[in-house]
Amino acid sequence: MTPLYERDRAALSSLQKLRFFPLSVTGGAGCLLIEEGGRELLDLSASWGAASLGHGHPAMRATIERALSNQAGASILSGTNEPAVELAEMLLKLTPGKDDHRRVWLGHSGSDANETVARVVPAATGRSRIMAFSGAYHGGTQGSMSVSGHSAQEGATKAEGLTLVPYPDSFRPFENDPTGDALLTHIERLLATSCPGDEVACFFIEPIQADGGLIVPPEGFLARLSEICAHYGILTVCDEVKVGLARSGLLHCFEHERIVPDIVVFGKGLGGGLPISAVVGPSWLMDHAPAFSMQTLHGNPVCASAALAVLKTIQAEGLVSRAQEVGRILTSHIAGATAQQPEVGHIRGRGLAIGVELIRKEDAEPDADLARKTVYRAWQLGAVFYYVGMNSNVLELTPPLILTENEAETGAQILAQAIKDAASGMVGDDEVAEFTGW
Ligand SMILES: *Cc1c(COP(=O)(O)O)cnc(C)c1O
Repeated sequence: MTPLYERDRAALSSLQKLRFFPLSVTGGAGCLLIEEGGRELLDLSASWGAASLGHGHPAMRATIERALSNQAGASILSGTNEPAVELAEMLLKLTPGKDDHRRVWLGHSGSDANETVARVVPAATGRSRIMAFSGAYHGGTQGSMSVSGHSAQEGATKAEGLTLVPYPDSFRPFENDPTGDALLTHIERLLATSCPGDEVACFFIEPIQADGGLIVPPEGFLARLSEICAHYGILTVCDEVKVGLARSGLLHCFEHERIVPDIVVFGKGLGGGLPISAVVGPSWLMDHAPAFSMQTLHGNPVCASAALAVLKTIQAEGLVSRAQEVGRILTSHIAGATAQQPEVGHIRGRGLAIGVELIRKEDAEPDADLARKTVYRAWQLGAVFYYVGMNSNVLELTPPLILTENEAETGAQILAQAIKDAASGMVGDDEVAEFTGW
């Protein structure tokens, strides 16, 4: 264990640690992280998708420097500033919506954004029920946990009137129906009986269920779900926090589903590594009441400038089509390099949001032990990525959007080697014992 990691242990609380190996970072550039001691690691996580432009992107550096050299205050609460307004205008322009009149709310994180939605929709509609998917991760604050269904948060208090339904997973399908039809029938039955549709305020949807296992819904499922919601006047909330803003190979992941959500939530990659989130929704909702959901530093011009740099760089560098292209290359390299590995049960994703589900070769059951040892071994071999899933057995790749083809090839090779090494017992139980992951 390196000196910095030891100091981390002694000084930093465990409450916010989700550690998979003793990663100790002293710098970074592009898709590389520099580890204490100088070793370079290929970053295939981008801090869970947050470092969307990689590390130290020139556009980010220039924008933040400019924002700080003539700093327009530190908040939007009691006065406006140009970067916050420009960001809101740009998000309105880039995000399709059903309503002609829409507004943007700016926050710090996916958590405060989803929490705001979970509070304002029932307040503005007078409907008390909320629906969401089991396996969904919408955040780590009380209000966002209360509408989430992830197993890591089982102890959290859920919103009164929350109804969770299974996420459509064609690899492990509900009632053995990979199309998702049986699940839609189940949801319709709920809305007609125990969870009356006209009492439901909104339905939280991840267009790919990321922390639940990087699950891509079957074609047409979310479109049909949106129709059902529209029938009952249930607002659809699309949580684009991890997979949105170019990562999926389209600007918005929901565009793959040909749906237009009522409310869209952005976070993580929006700030390129700085804390900022946003909610785009209809004015009648977003102007429900002044001072309803605010924190002092919301809309601060430095983070708003960072988000503007991210959005402008996505356009200037063509990162939407690049995510599609490099994602395709990375996925096919992974498929090729792991073709002889019976532990690889399913490879899935869109663009640069990729999941690799690991299973036991005897019975195809989820293999969490292999996942934790694989990410540990990959770190030893020089790549950083983690695992997700209700069964803790899905390797998740959300690299910076600037990943090159060569880096994709290297990453796939390390991933395949790590699975092979971990499966052959190269990582001991004692080595990973203290890294609980989730
Ligand atoms: C990470 C995540 C959140 C929460 O974002 P934070 O920045 O951790 O608050 C919400 N929704 C999804 C889909 C996420 O992946």
